[in-house]
Amino acid sequence: MNSLKCLTISRQHGLLITRNFSTSNLNLANHKCKVLIVGGGGGGTAVGAKLCFKYGAGSVMFLEPSDRHYYQPMFTLIGGGMKKLENSYKSMKSVLPSKAEWKKDRAVAFDPKSNRVETEKGDIIEYDYMVVSTGIELNYHKIPGLVDALENPNSQVVSNYSPKYVTNVFKAFEKFNGGNAIFTFPASPVKCPGAPQKICYIFEHYLRKNHKRNDAKVYYNTALPVIFGVKHYADSLWLVVKNRDINVNLSTNLIEVNSEAKKATFENIVTKERTTTDFGLLHAVPPMSTPSALREHSGDLVNELGFVEVHKHTMQSVRYPNVFAIGDCANSPNSKTAAAVAGQCHVVYRNLVDVMEGKKPSKSYDGYASCPLVTGYNTCILAEFDYNLQPLETFPFDQSKERLSMLIAKKDFMAPLYWYGLANGLWNGPGFIRKALNIFR
Ligand SMILES: Cc1cc2nc3c(=O)[nH]c(=O)nc-3n(C[C@H](O)[C@H](O)[C@H](O)COP(=O)(O)OP(=O)(O)OC[C@H]3O[C@@H](n4cnc5c(N)ncnc54)[C@H](O)[C@@H]3O)c2cc1C
Repeated sequence: MNSLKCLTISRQHGLLITRNFSTSNLNLANHKCKVLIVGGGGGGTAVGAKLCFKYGAGSVMFLEPSDRHYYQPMFTLIGGGMKKLENSYKSMKSVLPSKAEWKKDRAVAFDPKSNRVETEKGDIIEYDYMVVSTGIELNYHKIPGLVDALENPNSQVVSNYSPKYVTNVFKAFEKFNGGNAIFTFPASPVKCPGAPQKICYIFEHYLRKNHKRNDAKVYYNTALPVIFGVKHYADSLWLVVKNRDINVNLSTNLIEVNSEAKKATFENIVTKERTTTDFGLLHAVPPMSTPSALREHSGDLVNELGFVEVHKHTMQSVRYPNVFAIGDCANSPNSKTAAAVAGQCHVVYRNLVDVMEGKKPSKSYDGYASCPLVTGYNTCILAEFDYNLQPLETFPFDQSKERLSMLIAKKDFMAPLYWYGLANGLWNGPGFIRKALNIFR
């Protein structure tokens, strides 16, 4: 048995330490890179593509475990039967920048004090600069009964948040034969906070198109105290639900599913009162969190909820100047969307280059996020707003109104913009279009 001086992890404290230990059953190797990008989703890929363009091969390493890169905003349309799952992904290899090195592995611990990350396979990666872009994960297991229900194709319990379950959503629409149809929003941060209600509107329209509306009572049960965080769009959404007889229960959180009995239990967040309801269809959105590597093994890189703590305008870590975060895993108080990633990627890239050149970060992110609130098969409200929850609209008309044009934009233009623009580091959000169209306002 060899006894060598190596690097390993103290999991108790989530910190890397140096100590003597046996290496006989460890696959331990050291890697070094200039910029390490942890997570090759929308945010990581956009920044990585920009860095590779500037610095060329040999400068960027991706740490990313998945073979597939999903364009997740398409999941809403797949759930509604408007797109197919195979339209929503590409191989990770084809999406990550060809000049970057890809380490197909997962971060399990971060040690920002020593500029090191440990991987699931037991390797240590040392970096000069790091961009954290792990996104957030889906915790279906936190709601008792939900995983069993989702795994059972006859349960009428579905969820469009995961590529594993999204194809069952439209099948459940087709199988629905009356009763309560309940759509939920969990008590946690959520990626695309509009998505849990979009699928509800699509279902309600599906019923009307198929002459089944009278058989159903449609509910949107949300743990939030509001229907949508931005008043300008919330006012329109209240009209939509009123006109379409959709019952909205605020502060109402799904806590248990009994798929055998087709019953769901909810808790009122304020009063703690519990109610159990029958359902003919349940669309559940799981609680979400950052991956455990960040939540439990990254020391003071993160806040108490496990999100990377950054300055909200520069996206630079509040404690480690050589670390930036982008996308859903950052604690910047924007709505967690791919549109926000587009608004952040140039800021992260430029500020990182500034730091690498010994300067202060020069670019500022305004909190831009967008949410195409699909309200049926022909209509969409394109919400766009900033940190102050004020509308920041691209087009010179009132985007809080339902429009066919915005649905066409969502269905046919946004995916190409993601694949050919954002993922190649070429799309920084619609700010320049907004400025150009300002003359029509
Ligand atoms: C149903 C649904 C509908 C949506 N609709 C919209 C919409 O209409 N408009 C919109 O703008 N946005 C929408 N979004 C949100 C959008 O998809 C996300 O906000 C966006 O993908 C965030 O990008 P990201 O890079 O932060 O995370 P992701 O794109 O999720 O990428 C994270 C990457 O990190 C990797 N990773 C995870 N853990 C680790 C680890 N420990 N080590 C290394 N790598 C790791 C993952 O494999 C993944 O590749 C929607 C999302 C869903 C699920």
